[in-house]
Amino acid sequence: MAVLNAGAAEQKIRTPYLDGWDQVPLKEMERQAAAFPGQYWIAGPGERKQIALTFDDGPTEQTSELLQVLEKHNIHATFFWLGKQAEQFPEIVKAAAAAGHTIGNHSYDHPYSSKISTEVFTQQQFAPTQKVFQSILGFAPTLFRPPYGDLSDAEMLSLQKNKMHAISWSIDTRDWLVAWKKGQPSEIEKTVLDYAHPEAIVLMHDGGGPRQRTINAADAFIPKLKQQGYEFVTVDKLLGVAGKQ
Ligand SMILES: [Zn+2]
Repeated sequence: MAVLNAGAAEQKIRTPYLDGWDQVPLKEMERQAAAFPGQYWIAGPGERKQIALTFDDGPTEQTSELLQVLEKHNIHATFFWLGKQAEQFPEIVKAAAAAGHTIGNHSYDHPYSSKISTEVFTQQQFAPTQKVFQSILGFAPTLFRPPYGDLSDAEMLSLQKNKMHAISWSIDTRDWLVAWKKGQPSEIEKTVLDYAHPEAIVLMHDGGGPRQRTINAADAFIPKLKQQGYEFVTVDKLLGVAGKQ
């Protein structure tokens, strides 16, 4: 590992690989971040004591309660939402944007992007979702999170052409697995607290399954990280890029 950036928020995933779930190898995401510096992000660029919480796969009927928790703690987060879901819950999309959260594109219906052509990815997944947000909000996102962290280099180039940043994560809370295994919210909280680092990007979900444990965990760990001196920021603010176009 290069020591050049030691101590700063390296473009490196901190949580370990999860065997048995056919996930994209962490090294592949780190390779992509290294291949597209300033365009593909795993964490922020420096070492400020800031953290960006991100929630994927919504909006859903569970998102409203999460928005209330974020409001209660007076913080802003970033939502990587599916076009298909946003069409169903436009009022939640409007409410989240009005509350100051950042909305990102997470594809239309969550494919493995590298398994479809760049043309299909761009024309059937990326662009229709930009359009959904444009019509609901009057602007389109600048941030894209690849479903499963799966993205070809050609698709990354297509995103670049569309003035997008690709956003991965440095801390995977595995909240979806905790929900699946009927785990405790404390497992999610523990992962965030154990791996918290300056300019972390934290992966969680507000869709795709039952998310009460995620919401409860966020409610618990946000004040603890605040006590440690962390400031919660949106991904665009963390990176110093525009949040809308
Ligand atoms: Zn997802």
